[in-house]
Amino acid sequence: MQEIKIIDNEKKKEVKLPENLVFGKTFTEHIFEMDFDRNKGGWQTPTIKRYENLNIDPAAMVFHYGQAIFEGMKAYKQVDGKIALFRPEKNIERLNRSARRLCIPEVEPELALKAIKELVKIDAEWIPEKPGHSLYIRPFIFATEPCFGVRAADSYKFIIILSPVGPYYPQGFKPVPIMATDKYVRAVRKGTGEAKAAGNYAAGLIAQEEAKKEGYSQILWLDAIEQKYIEEVGAMNIFIRFKDEVATPALSGSILPGITRMSVIELLKDWGYNINERLIAIEELFNAADKGELLEIFGSGTAAVISSVSKLKYHDREIKFSETEPGELAFKLYDELTGLQYGKIEDRFGWITIVE
Ligand SMILES: *Cc1c(COP(=O)(O)O)cnc(C)c1O
Repeated sequence: MQEIKIIDNEKKKEVKLPENLVFGKTFTEHIFEMDFDRNKGGWQTPTIKRYENLNIDPAAMVFHYGQAIFEGMKAYKQVDGKIALFRPEKNIERLNRSARRLCIPEVEPELALKAIKELVKIDAEWIPEKPGHSLYIRPFIFATEPCFGVRAADSYKFIIILSPVGPYYPQGFKPVPIMATDKYVRAVRKGTGEAKAAGNYAAGLIAQEEAKKEGYSQILWLDAIEQKYIEEVGAMNIFIRFKDEVATPALSGSILPGITRMSVIELLKDWGYNINERLIAIEELFNAADKGELLEIFGSGTAAVISSVSKLKYHDREIKFSETEPGELAFKLYDELTGLQYGKIEDRFGWITIVE
């Protein structure tokens, strides 16, 4: 594995975190950067340096044809002062799966993990220590070759930046209103929905804007072909707790395979729940709600961990839960996952990687 070159001749700044950390607006002092050039034999020297603006050709292919992928994960300051990552090898595997789908060169997994750890260590003072706070880690890769040809680029940048973040819900674990739509689709099977590709998010913005105008904070996406089955919500996977079953949409090819989703499934199995990955029609939710057999709905994702749903609207119908109290299972999962992440609960699954 290549050594990471550290270029840093300046004195470290004194770290002053803002009182209220708005998600993804504050960045740390350093950046990991590694260039890929097919004509120079692939990935070049991995480097950690000061955070600064990039110098990129306006003809860089990412701006025109959208070859860009990313990841999202967190570093946590645990109760004993150690720094923890949550299943980082899963994020790196997914980064490489996204890369393959978009014809972007893969990165060596061991090097990517080392890069994340080294960068987090250099900027460790930026990890906020207040409850519910963490350091969001954003690895991403994009095409830099200046060319108008529509083909896979010959040069890329792999970058990692860090952002200290506060709790996703500053007022506490508050349920959120969501809205399903059949006016737009996010992703179609065999398309790029299962990759964390930048373009997927641009495609969903219009629906999200329209939902916001109606007072809903996220869109519940339906499958693109039949517009019948639920898929995921915003940048979260979705779970439905019925009377005798917990269900989540099966990974059909258009759903992003969340690492929080995977962990929730493993936890529920461990706890003895009847948890199934299957097709879930939106009608099924309304039918179950009418019969009083729909107990709660929640989303899962790195940013919020678990997010309870207060109401779900589709066309002129609405299912309502508490607007103030999260669902019972959502809360239990939130407690367990954050307990593991902050080192309050023993890591019995081997999900925690300590940064040393
Ligand atoms: C990132 C993301 C998720 C959640 O994935 P995690 O690995 O749990 O953070 C779910 N859906 C979409 C569309 C996403 O981008």
